[in-house]
Amino acid sequence: MIRINENYLKLQASYLFKDIGDRVAAFQKAHPDREIIKLGIGDVTRALPEACVKAFHSAVDEMADDSTFRGYGPDQGYPFLTEKIVEFDFKSRGADISCEEIFISDGAKCDTGNIQEIFAQDIKIAIPDPVYPVYLDTNVMAGRTGRFGNGRYESVHYLDGTRENGFVPGLPETPVDLIYLCFPNNPTGAVADRGVLEAWVSYARENRSLILYDAAYEAFVRDTHIPRSIYEIEGAREVAIEFRSFSKTAGFTGTRCAYTVVPKDCVGYDAGGGKHFLHTMWQRRISTKFNGVSYPVQKSAAAVFSAEGRSQVASLVDYYMKNAALIRKEMTDLGYECVGGTNSPYIWIDGKADSWDFFDMLLNTAGVVCTPGAGFGTCGKGFIRISAFNSHENVQEAMIRIKKALQK
Ligand code: PLP
Repeated sequence: MIRINENYLKLQASYLFKDIGDRVAAFQKAHPDREIIKLGIGDVTRALPEACVKAFHSAVDEMADDSTFRGYGPDQGYPFLTEKIVEFDFKSRGADISCEEIFISDGAKCDTGNIQEIFAQDIKIAIPDPVYPVYLDTNVMAGRTGRFGNGRYESVHYLDGTRENGFVPGLPETPVDLIYLCFPNNPTGAVADRGVLEAWVSYARENRSLILYDAAYEAFVRDTHIPRSIYEIEGAREVAIEFRSFSKTAGFTGTRCAYTVVPKDCVGYDAGGGKHFLHTMWQRRISTKFNGVSYPVQKSAAAVFSAEGRSQVASLVDYYMKNAALIRKEMTDLGYECVGGTNSPYIWIDGKADSWDFFDMLLNTAGVVCTPGAGFGTCGKGFIRISAFNSHENVQEAMIRIKKALQK
C-alpha cells in the first residue's frame, strides 16, 4: 500500500487567486461590455530588455552549431554569470560575496521552497504574517507545523506585521531557529532599514539562528540608505542565506532565472552541537537534485549586467515605479493609508473595510482587480494589495475609475 505524506492534508487550499478568478469571471459574464484592469497578480507585463533578447538569440545560435554547442553546465551556474553577479550585486555595495557562494537556479520560488530540507524537522520556524505563502506551505509539507485553526498553524512562530509596526515585524520574544524575512516585502511593499537588519543579524548571531532573506524585489529600492542585500550588514555572512531573482528585476518571470547565496561562513548544528557548513549541504543538494539552468537563459541573465542591459533594466524598473508612485499618491489623496510603493512595486492599502468587500467594491464599481490582503495571512485582514505591474495607460485609467468609485 502506497502511503501518502499526510502533512499535505494539513495544507489549506490556496483559494486566493482561484476566488479572485471566479469573482472576475462572474463579473465579466454579467458585464461583457466592461473592460477589466488587472492590478492583482504580481506578474510583470513588459518585454525582456533588448540586451537580454539579443544574448538569448545568440546563445540559441551557439546551441545550433556542433562547434559551440553546450551540454550540461556547471552545477552552480556558469562563471560568466556568477562573476557579474558578484561584481554588480555585491562588491559594488560593499558586500563580501564570492562566485563559489552563488547558486544559479530557475527561480526564487523553488529555492525558498527547497532550502528548508537541509534543516532538522524539529526546529522552530518564524514566518511573517502577512507573507508570500511559499515559506509557510513548504514547512507544512515537511511536517514542521501542527494543525491549522483560526487562520494559523500550530508550532509556527508568526511575526506579525501590523499598522503599528509599519509591517516590519519586531524580533521574537521566544527563541526561534529559522527566520524568514522578505524585503522589499511581498505583499506589503514595506522595506527594512539598516537598523532593522542589524537587529535581526545580531539576534541570529546570539541565538545561533539562521535568516532566510528573500530579496526578490531589491531592484525596486530607491532610497540609497536602504540595504539591498543582507550582506551589507556586518556579520550577516555567518547567519544569512539570500535569495535573488531576475523575475521582477528584468522581466524573467517566464524565462526563469534566479540565484541563492549561501556564504561559506554559514553553519548549522547537529544534535550533538557539531558545526556543519550549510554551503556544503546546499551544494550536495543541488548536485543531487538539479541539473542547472539552460545556457541561453544564463547568457540572457548575464546581459542584465552589460552597460546596455543595466540601463534597460533601470528603465524597466522606473517604468513600474512610476505606476507605483501614481497608485500611492491617488490612494493617499483619497484618504487611504498606504505602505509600500516607494521602494517596491506593491502598494498595501488599509481599506478601512473587510478585504474581500473592498475587493468586490473595486471590481463592481471600477472594474479594477486588486488582491485582498486577507489572502496573505490573518494580519492582512482589512488591507488590499495593488500591484504596479501593468502599463501606464492601464494604471492611469484604473486610478481614474477608482477615484470615481471611492468619491461616490
Ligand atoms: N519571492 C517573492 C517574495 C516573490 O514575490 C516571488 C514571486 O512573486 C518569488 C520569490 C518567486 O520568484 P521566481 O519567479 O524567481 O520564482
